[in-house]
Amino acid sequence: MKLLEGKTVIVTGASRGIGKGIAEKMAEAGAHVAFTYRSSSDKALVLEKALKEKGVKAKAYQSDAADFEQAQELVKQVLEDFGQVDILINNAGITKDNLLMRMREEDFDEVIRVNLKSVFNMTKAVLRPMMKQRKGSIINISSVVGVRGNAGQANYAASKAGIIGFSKSVAQELGSRNIRCNVVAPGFIETEMTSALDEKILEEWKKQIPLRRTGTPEDVANACIFLASDLSDYVTGQVLLVDGGMVM
Ligand code: NAP
Repeated sequence: MKLLEGKTVIVTGASRGIGKGIAEKMAEAGAHVAFTYRSSSDKALVLEKALKEKGVKAKAYQSDAADFEQAQELVKQVLEDFGQVDILINNAGITKDNLLMRMREEDFDEVIRVNLKSVFNMTKAVLRPMMKQRKGSIINISSVVGVRGNAGQANYAASKAGIIGFSKSVAQELGSRNIRCNVVAPGFIETEMTSALDEKILEEWKKQIPLRRTGTPEDVANACIFLASDLSDYVTGQVLLVDGGMVM
């Protein structure tokens, strides 16, 4: 039997990058996959088809994770379509980098809304079904930047550090209901989010990574498989860095 057979997972922001990698791994592990995207409809439909070909149920939903009402509506819809939600992976995220001197108020607010408020929205939305099932695993994607900060990313770092505090609180509140909540903090993963960085900066980053390479969406997805499955039944409130040893 596959590790996640019979389970249903919601992954936010899975039309590309890390979210897509997570959705694929979840399906390979036997989970039915409901996933969201914001605007990449074509990519989402291609992924939906590819996931179904792995022999699981899969459906793409256009839903803004930063919008409270949309998050509630999404989970309602997923429950109608799939019948249950066992795993939630809050992956949707954006960057709007700038030095603090030049950072606009709206760039701060938007990053907090999409990266942090979305985690609140989605976690609230799955609480009731998970409490009813007396079981659930919530995995929130933070970043090494949320652990150690980064010049030029004060808004992003604040949102990702906020995710860690939020997740530890949820783990404490809901542990007695057998709902676990953990954080995966990726390091440097090659996706569209990081593709804008110039080659020189990339080489500098690599020098700081003990494993001397950037990570892949699959590296992050593998950590999620562990935290989503019963293999981690006694693990909650933890921050798992998937960063080639960059921060230790
Ligand atoms: P990405 O390639 O830019 O993909 C972002 C995904 O999130 C897309 O599917 C996008 O949908 C979706 N999205 C954005 N805003 C959304 C919203 N409001 N509601 C729903 N979906 C939304 O990013 P990534 O590199 O894969 O990053 C994924 C997560 O990992 C983020 O939380 C990021 O902060 C975190 N992370 C990334 C790295 C890295 O090195 N790449 C490192 C540490 C942490 P559309 O395609 O429709 O826009």
